Amino acid sequence: SLQSDEIEKLREDLASKIKNSNIGAYVEQLENKDINKSGSGIPIAIKNNINVKDWELTCSSNILKNYIAPYNATVIEKLKNAGLSPFGFTNMDEFAMGSSTESSCHGKTLNPIDNSRIPGGSSGGSAAAVSGGLAIAALGTDTGGSIRQPAAYCGCVGMKPTYGRVSRYGIVAYSSSLDQCGPITQNVEDAAILYDIIAGYDEKDSTSANISYEKVTPKLDSNKKFTIAVIDNFVEQANDDIKNAFNKTVKLLEEQGHKIIHTNMIDTNKIISTYYIIASAEASANLARFDGVRFGTRKGDTGLKDMYVETKSQGFGYEVQKRIMVGSFVLSSGYYDAYYIKAQKIRSLIKSEFDKIFESADLILSPVAPTTAPKFGAYSSALDMYLTDLYTIAINLAGLPAISLPVAKDKENLPIGLQLIANSFEEQTLFDGALSME
Ligand code: GLN
Repeated sequence: SLQSDEIEKLREDLASKIKNSNIGAYVEQLENKDINKSGSGIPIAIKNNINVKDWELTCSSNILKNYIAPYNATVIEKLKNAGLSPFGFTNMDEFAMGSSTESSCHGKTLNPIDNSRIPGGSSGGSAAAVSGGLAIAALGTDTGGSIRQPAAYCGCVGMKPTYGRVSRYGIVAYSSSLDQCGPITQNVEDAAILYDIIAGYDEKDSTSANISYEKVTPKLDSNKKFTIAVIDNFVEQANDDIKNAFNKTVKLLEEQGHKIIHTNMIDTNKIISTYYIIASAEASANLARFDGVRFGTRKGDTGLKDMYVETKSQGFGYEVQKRIMVGSFVLSSGYYDAYYIKAQKIRSLIKSEFDKIFESADLILSPVAPTTAPKFGAYSSALDMYLTDLYTIAINLAGLPAISLPVAKDKENLPIGLQLIANSFEEQTLFDGALSME
């Protein structure tokens, strides 16, 4: 609750900080735009895959250069109705595919805490903006960790709602059965406030959950005691700094009166394979629409096939092309049963393993990533990077809500994030638990 002159001052402060910043949190075109044209509400940074009417929506891809968003996503309408204003598009991995924000046509974003390190991804621009003081809060999207992991690498709070809780209408689809939009903020309360603003049923999204929804903010309670599960074979795979921070947090939670129980889950390598098959399959279907006809840049002028081939070859970057090919492969006749159907079966198994844990636990505590923010160039292959997603993607496969919180710093003063995971639509429990950890 700020007065309008305070909001104006805030907007001006942020605008001048953004102008003088070199971390590339916002996409270039909007860095110099007249920020005040975007409205007069409390400024919220927006990931560049969420439609904001009349803004250039690129999803950090050359294929959408010069594409102007024709309408507002439901989450943007909801922000506006609550007196908030979109404040500028933040950088991301191309079409949200990645964990480092390096695969962007706008260039890379630097981690504000240590500029030699990645901010994480794919919502790296949103997390860097919040962490670097260039935004008070931001929206990101999370298909396999893209809100929680950059929040952890940059030392802020990132929350992924239950699948179906927040409308995907007007958010460019990467993997439709996994995508959710959520807040990246400086603290848990801000995340709860922003979540309350964007959550709720939307008839424009056929996968939106048409169930009653109560705001979490008025009932926030940091004194509730929960049973919290620890998945031992997950934790084992983190480096020593993360493990130490994890064990300290467990002790602290016990001292506070929470009950800790120990369990194990399906091997994380299986989870990674399952995720990358399903996400790529859905991406190959979703990205088919970028064919040079309806959206963005058109290339090739010697016929329809030439147009398709040239538009996609020149417009999509390497990682996106690779995933379209993998996705088409696993969906093609002859391979469908061996890969796609098998992945769907393992997805159900993952969901049932979580169901079983939630029979005796209210929350699960887990690392967000196996290390703190890596340096640029630390990955020798794309697979190396995929493997760092081991903690975040199972949550999307099961549709669960989760929140990533900074809990400690490592020897190099880099933030360590841990996540709490709750059962579907138990966001109140999630935020209450998170508040008790803050
Ligand atoms: N790193 C994962 C991927 O590349 C998750 C990205 C996301 O959540 N958008 O698919």
